[in-house]
Amino acid sequence: MKKEIWNQNTNKRPLIIAGPCSAETREQVMATAEAISQSGVAYFRAGIWKPRTRPGSFEGVGSAGLEWLKEVKTTYGIKTCTEVANVKHVYEALKAGIDMLWIGARTTTNPFAVQEMAEALSGVDIPILVKNPINPDLGLWIGAIERFMLKGTTRIGAIHRGFSQYGEQKYRNEPQWDIPIELQRLNPDLPLICDPSHIAGNRALLAEVSQKAMDLNFDGLMIETHTTPDEAWSDAAQQLTPTDLDMLLAELIIREVDPQEVSMESLSILRNEIDSFDEQLLDILRNRMKTVEKIGEFKKNNDMTILQNSRWSSLLERNLQMAQKYDLDEAMVNSILKAVHQGSINLQERVIGGK
Ligand code: PEP
Ligand code: MN
Repeated sequence: MKKEIWNQNTNKRPLIIAGPCSAETREQVMATAEAISQSGVAYFRAGIWKPRTRPGSFEGVGSAGLEWLKEVKTTYGIKTCTEVANVKHVYEALKAGIDMLWIGARTTTNPFAVQEMAEALSGVDIPILVKNPINPDLGLWIGAIERFMLKGTTRIGAIHRGFSQYGEQKYRNEPQWDIPIELQRLNPDLPLICDPSHIAGNRALLAEVSQKAMDLNFDGLMIETHTTPDEAWSDAAQQLTPTDLDMLLAELIIREVDPQEVSMESLSILRNEIDSFDEQLLDILRNRMKTVEKIGEFKKNNDMTILQNSRWSSLLERNLQMAQKYDLDEAMVNSILKAVHQGSINLQERVIGGK
């Protein structure tokens, strides 16, 4: 069965969720909804209760904003969604007929809050999306999803919004794509949405992150949109105007996961080549480890330390130069060499056997 991604009539990728970071005023909510009502947006988003890092920032308009979301739905026929962080939010959002709820990144980190909401939502048949926790912990993310599933939520999905870090970086929240890739591998039927707005933190990177998510098999995008982004009361730098949203969506290339009318013959020949290279890599690695073991014996017999800085530095440097000559990605080679080196240290520790 194809996974259900709640895209009104079509069930086709991508599911688009758009709307302001925060509902600020009735006028702002309605103007944004009107402007995106022809953009193919399946769900209108707006934060009513805003979890902010420091007190004193705008913390959302609260329940009053739910009335505006209701009005969006009746006026423009777009389904609505908002963030809930506790059971009180859940009851109020359900009472207002909100069509979909998401759990914010700061809340996913809190199993008690998640559990209480999962219990409150037991038997309620609306989609629930769980954002990744702010820290790069796949288990915690999956755990939150499981809490809902165990309480009977069937329409459950995940939102990847990146992971916080210390210091200035390219992205506001580092995407660490390997984490949502692993989530997909473990849960191939779980709808997975990307939130490029909170990953990027600024408009300039949004298109690039959105395209990457599509090429990594994501089912949809949640994009913060505001009629006058620079005046937004929260997340001003990352919100798009409705016109820019249209442009981004128009330029997005949706490649197929599993195209039906294409012959896969030449691809499968290439995949066989890859399998054979992987076999060779592992064979070389196995032989390398045998030599590492012999070196461990030598070090043991001669009371030498496992780590020899000058040897490690020159090995790393020589191979990185070679990587450059071969036109290989330096970061990739660097991390492979470091992983192999760490594995070798672990083996020699076992050979030397402690005290
Ligand atoms: C939001 O969607 O506006 C939000 C607060 O996101 P996150 O939980 O990803 O920080
Ligand atoms: Mn936001």
